[in-house]
Amino acid sequence: MKNLAQKSLIAVLTSLLLLGNPPVFAAPTEDLLPDIGTTAGATLSINQEMAMGDLYLRSIRAQAPLIYDPLLTQYINQLGQKLVNHADSVKTPFHFYLINNPSINAYAFFGGNVVLHSALFRYSHNESELASVMAHEISHVTQRHLARLMEDQQRKSPLAWAGALGSILLMMASPQAGMAALSGTIAGVKQGFISFTQSNEQEADRIGMQTLSRAGFDPQGMPNFMQIMADQYRYSSKLPEILYTHPLPDSRLADARNRANQYPAKATPESQDFLFARVRILTMFSNEQGLYINQLLDKYSQGTAKEQLAAAYGHTILLLQDKKYAEARKILSPLFEKHPDNLWFIDAMTDIDIEQKQYTNAISRLQNALNKFKNNPILQINLANAYIQSKQYPQASQLLFRYTFNHPEDLNGWTLLTEAAGKQGKRHEEWAAYAEIVALQGEFDMAIDYLSKASKLVKLGSYDQRRYDARIDQLRQLQQNYSQYK
Ligand SMILES: [Zn+2]
Repeated sequence: MKNLAQKSLIAVLTSLLLLGNPPVFAAPTEDLLPDIGTTAGATLSINQEMAMGDLYLRSIRAQAPLIYDPLLTQYINQLGQKLVNHADSVKTPFHFYLINNPSINAYAFFGGNVVLHSALFRYSHNESELASVMAHEISHVTQRHLARLMEDQQRKSPLAWAGALGSILLMMASPQAGMAALSGTIAGVKQGFISFTQSNEQEADRIGMQTLSRAGFDPQGMPNFMQIMADQYRYSSKLPEILYTHPLPDSRLADARNRANQYPAKATPESQDFLFARVRILTMFSNEQGLYINQLLDKYSQGTAKEQLAAAYGHTILLLQDKKYAEARKILSPLFEKHPDNLWFIDAMTDIDIEQKQYTNAISRLQNALNKFKNNPILQINLANAYIQSKQYPQASQLLFRYTFNHPEDLNGWTLLTEAAGKQGKRHEEWAAYAEIVALQGEFDMAIDYLSKASKLVKLGSYDQRRYDARIDQLRQLQQNYSQYK
């Protein structure tokens, strides 16, 4: 699967324009900033945290270069879940997101949402190093550091706290203005970042390392990655963002090293999926490392068997990008025969087939794989795309209705559905899918407007109309729930 959603979201806006109803974005005004008062004294409940996390997530979707890649999404979520399963005090589900950004950074937000910058894959040499950053972030969440920080801030400076919470709500109305406001107000921070205290950092390191080790990773991954960050800082004129939010004094590195040394040394097997993910990100989503990826692939070509496999996968992607499909197939075919259940390979083979218009091959391979890996999202999204490319739109719609029901927060499903519906001239289904896309980006009024359009296009009292109207009510309810933070 190629980088679908980032490309297609532009297509969404273009097709909206073609439909004659350009989206209207509200101009930011001061009035939108709600007065959430100096009255509060209560601490944040888990429900409030979940709601704030959801609001924030919608604004991130609206403005950050999120990577909507089914393979990478599955990889970081499986890795994150493995850590979460070995963490204590887990009170919310966790979700992991990847943002295309060349600076080393990771942060956790309310509601168990953890964001990773793609650069983490550039600088981590192995899965334990990457996992150490994730384990640290997970620990900030389980220890409720952000909530405690905000509560503390609220006691010390109620106005600033109100401003921070207000900015998050403002982001709903106008993401750009909200983000700027948030940078200016939250927690009295330097450079607009939330800075955890030194004791928060020590606790996140200590508990994070425990989680890391319990989950079967090498605890040395943590001090090793801190060393990489420290080196970055040494050779850079600008402090990396991550060091604003997670300050790294020498003592932190020394403590982490001492602590890691107390764990029994154990050999952690090299992760094949980490190598595939690393190569995929650096070939497909890196905006500055063209030279680096070639060096890395050269190194991997002469490395372990797993690294050689990752190098061959990387070369396949590069050939696909250069539209050299026959050459890509020549490299991938023998590997695919040896590893017929490898999802990274199935995905790449599908891309080659589709580019060479061998739709039947692509579709039957994906259908067979789905018999084995029931309901796998990577395979389902690839299959829906293959149906669309081969102009089998009703089959695509059928699959996508089920998919979006099971994965309502995946923009990929809705984006493909707009395409499948549009090609069949089913305008109401197209509007309804656009509504979900904009709702996921926090534009509730716009979503309700689109659903009203869909509702007017179908027969009075029909099942579809009841469905659209019920969804309008749901979104209004959600909008209202969020406004009670005022
Ligand atoms: Zn931290």
